[in-house]
Amino acid sequence: MPSIIFLGTGGDEFVVGKQLRGSGGIIIKVEGYQFHLDPGPGALVRAQQAGINLRENTAVLVSHAHINHCNDANAVIASMSHSGFDVNGVLISNKTFVNGSEEARMPPMLTDFHRNCVERIIVAKPSQRIGIETVEIQTLKALHKDPNALGFRFITPKFNLVYTGDTGYSKEIVDQYKKADILILNLVYPSNAKEKDQYNLNFEDAVKILQKIKPRLAVATHFGKKMLEANVLDEARELQKATGVQVLAATEGMSINPESYSAGSKQRTLGTYKESRKEEIDDELGTGIEDEELPSQEEPQEELQAEPEPEAEDAEEIPKEEQSTLVIDDFEDGSKEEEE
Ligand SMILES: [Zn+2]
Repeated sequence: MPSIIFLGTGGDEFVVGKQLRGSGGIIIKVEGYQFHLDPGPGALVRAQQAGINLRENTAVLVSHAHINHCNDANAVIASMSHSGFDVNGVLISNKTFVNGSEEARMPPMLTDFHRNCVERIIVAKPSQRIGIETVEIQTLKALHKDPNALGFRFITPKFNLVYTGDTGYSKEIVDQYKKADILILNLVYPSNAKEKDQYNLNFEDAVKILQKIKPRLAVATHFGKKMLEANVLDEARELQKATGVQVLAATEGMSINPESYSAGSKQRTLGTYKESRKEEIDDELGTGIEDEELPSQEEPQEELQAEPEPEAEDAEEIPKEEQSTLVIDDFEDGSKEEEE
């Protein structure tokens, strides 16, 4: 059964620093794959407590290079690969985690050793599409202190899930969330918060987002200190009342079945997309990642270096705003130079 499991719901440095709420990220199990989003401090412990076998991770996704989102990514990669004895899985990450950001004065957080423990590293910019057989992952723009921060959308045959990542609010940001059946919001600040910032969502932002997107389910997580003080259950209830959208406040280890929130009417769109565009893209660029047939170490490196693709031309089923080039770039930065 597909599931979304919260290995922690802590947001700011106070909550994470004291581990008032965990920070192990989110596990998404779907279509036989296991995706691990934003493994922050304690990811291994929280995974063990939740009965998650990290060896089964298909991919680790890092939205940005703040400690509470990526601290344990190296450790998770080590778990996935027996510290490189069995090179395994894919890392899908923003640029800063892999290569650092001069602009933000942030060093790379991925170690050279762990770079070589995964089969593929995809350094993503916003609006990229990454096909993993029947699951497509789209990267979304986020407004955050890490200038390369991302959100993620998972398009599966049964549901369409958006994870905002850490982001501030803007019209452009919200427009990206359209068609989400399930929307996971990193909601740091409660209603009427005196202290808030433009790089993280607050209650009022969440109201505007849900009123516009109307997902079948919204899950609030990534809570800051003020959010815990305000009581996350009350905030979720108020958010639901204000928007008419079902809202859950995530709890530690909470597991939900995303198929309960799939939209029959929306599957039509996904179906046509899957049949026409996605397979074509996968064929063209070799971005389809197959569980049993991930590129082996012996394969030449060129296999992994997809060339930038010009604008998508025949994506008539895809709304304009979602059209994008499927580019897997920066491979020279992420690919292994030396094979063992
Ligand atoms: Zn952050």
